[in-house]
Amino acid sequence: MTDAPTTIEDAILRIETLSKDFGPVRAVDGVSLDIRRNEFFALLGPSGCGKSTLLRMLAGFEMPSSGRILLEGKDISSLKPERRPLNLMFQSYALFPHMSVVRNIAYGLEMERLPRAEVRARVDEIMAVTDLTGFADRKPEQLSGGQKQRVALARALVKRPKVLLLDEPLGALDKKLRERMQLELKRLQHDVGITFIIVTHDQEEALVMADRMAILKDGQLLQCGSPEDVYESPTDRFVANFIGVMNFIEGGIGADGHFTAEGMRLPVPGIAAGPTALAIRPEDVAIDHGGGHGIAGRITDMAYHGLDRVLHVAIDACETPLQVRVPARIEAGHAIGEPIRLSIAPDRCKFFPA
Ligand code: ATP
Repeated sequence: MTDAPTTIEDAILRIETLSKDFGPVRAVDGVSLDIRRNEFFALLGPSGCGKSTLLRMLAGFEMPSSGRILLEGKDISSLKPERRPLNLMFQSYALFPHMSVVRNIAYGLEMERLPRAEVRARVDEIMAVTDLTGFADRKPEQLSGGQKQRVALARALVKRPKVLLLDEPLGALDKKLRERMQLELKRLQHDVGITFIIVTHDQEEALVMADRMAILKDGQLLQCGSPEDVYESPTDRFVANFIGVMNFIEGGIGADGHFTAEGMRLPVPGIAAGPTALAIRPEDVAIDHGGGHGIAGRITDMAYHGLDRVLHVAIDACETPLQVRVPARIEAGHAIGEPIRLSIAPDRCKFFPA
């Protein structure tokens, strides 16, 4: 379902109409959200949308202006960070440079004055899970970016928080390593069985890692759902455009139940009349090879991606060229400037009031 309920029976964390004002700036604006136990949850949105502020309120580093945060039904809104069974992992990792890997990881437990044998057992266990066993005596400067990232994770996980909060955890890594760590982080979360809430501005990353995600804009929650929900059934034009690539054709729906735009007419039963944008993904547009009934256009650009090819096609109804994603081996031999006809899959179209 598109509008996945934001209220969940077995929620570990409940965020209730949470807002944060910095002077005149409303950074977080009435966000309500339930997070499931053992879920990998992503907070996603453009720069300045309030995702870090929301995470910092969960961690206790910012106090809400209004609203509540409930952990397993208990209001933790006014607890100090160290009193919350949540742990925040910073993007910068904040490792102690003069301490070995094992000391970095053990530090938090030693501060809690746990018995030495227990500290050792828990550190060993978490080092095995994070694949750090061979690195116990190294200093942070002797580690790669991915290894440092794992030490930071191990240090956060060894304290067995109920929820681990991660602010752009892969932000410091290069693209290749980042992609590998996305899968590793997901596996790790599954293995340790702790709820992860991650902040990212990278939609690809959220799609790959998250069980569910929330899209924020201007401090407000626009949509919450599984990656498939959000990609396939965006409920908002901003979300449709922010997640993946979306083509928009501006037109209108008439009393006759047809969407019309320049050179286009499509039956759309059951959708309210008025100025409307038709939204369609590049993979849901095909090249019309027969009949000649398709939408007429002209190729303005082409990009080869190995598996597929993206054609940019100027059509009358569209201000910006329509992107069309086709299998590269099947649709070879096109040229820039070439006239072309397109067909769009009617059942794939979304409509947003203009
Ligand atoms: P980014 O991806 O760029 O980190 P974000 O989505 O995490 O952005 P926030 O850092 O939460 O966004 O900021 C949300 C809004 O609140 C922004 O307009 C920001 O300028 C403002 N803001 C954040 N922290 C403060 C602060 N301490 N004082 C004043 N304004 C702040």
